[in-house]
Amino acid sequence: MTRRVARVQNVAGSLYGLAYGDALGKPTEFQTYETIVATYGPDGPRELTGRPALVTDDTQMALAVGEAMLAAPAITPSVLEPLLRRAFLEWAASPDNNRAPGNTCLQACAALHDGRPWQQATVARSKGCGANMRVTPVGLHPDLDEDQRAGLAQLQAGLTHGHPTGLAASELTAYACRWLASGLAPGDLLEALRERSDSQRKIYREEWLGDLWTRYPSTSPEEFIALGWDETAAALDRVRDALAAGDYTGDPCRATGAGWIAEEALATALYCYLISPDEPVAVLGRGAASSGDSDSIACLAGAFAGASLGLSAWPAAWQQQIEYTDRLARIARSWE
Ligand SMILES: [Mg+2]
Repeated sequence: MTRRVARVQNVAGSLYGLAYGDALGKPTEFQTYETIVATYGPDGPRELTGRPALVTDDTQMALAVGEAMLAAPAITPSVLEPLLRRAFLEWAASPDNNRAPGNTCLQACAALHDGRPWQQATVARSKGCGANMRVTPVGLHPDLDEDQRAGLAQLQAGLTHGHPTGLAASELTAYACRWLASGLAPGDLLEALRERSDSQRKIYREEWLGDLWTRYPSTSPEEFIALGWDETAAALDRVRDALAAGDYTGDPCRATGAGWIAEEALATALYCYLISPDEPVAVLGRGAASSGDSDSIACLAGAFAGASLGLSAWPAAWQQQIEYTDRLARIARSWE
């Protein structure tokens, strides 16, 4: 694999990139591609608006994951589960939880509230992108070993989204940030993610997931998790084919999916990013100018671009304008 020299402030670059994409995609989420283009032009929205520029549940929940990790004296399942549960419940009860939150998260939080095991609270068949839109802090923590990073990426997904594809797509989203922040060349990213899909296909992380697999009609833990990796791998292959096809104009959701589900949010974010990995603001505009889950697509694409390019890739003035800048900066400071 080719590696570039890692630039500075990659954690901040990724966390802010997530929030910037989320803010740019917020007004376009429920619009058609034609309406978005009529308003913003074919390059999509590229200027933050409002002071502060408001984000959505994507950034709010990523902050919840990151802050649960900051509060953890050790990265183990028994330490993280109650911290994540508490952070999600605080988010659910917050007056700021008014940004078109996902139904799966609301439903699971209502069930997590009474203290039952999370495997019973999760929405077992949901693979909505709410599981991976918030996972990037797991990828950005600098000191996790492989089991901690993969296990925690899946655990934080499983608390609300029990479908195996939510788990697999979350792990890959975290690893994409990790590898890009460490200097992996964007041109090598897809192949690296695809190899990880293959290598993890039969690995059920029981220490982190417990008996989650029994909530799904699978005959074994291995069969359960393989379904998630297979669906995610197929989505990665669609990204490869779409990039090879070479026509990058129009609605990106036509190429790789609308992004409401986990593997498509990852795929369409990767597609928007990999078309022009050295033009980060263009990446955000492309993700926001999409007919599907625009805020989630743009936020993940921004997290990838920022992880690779660092904080200086973004317009400096945006840092003061974006909502929750203090909370984003605090996580970044802890991990840079
Ligand atoms: Mg959102």
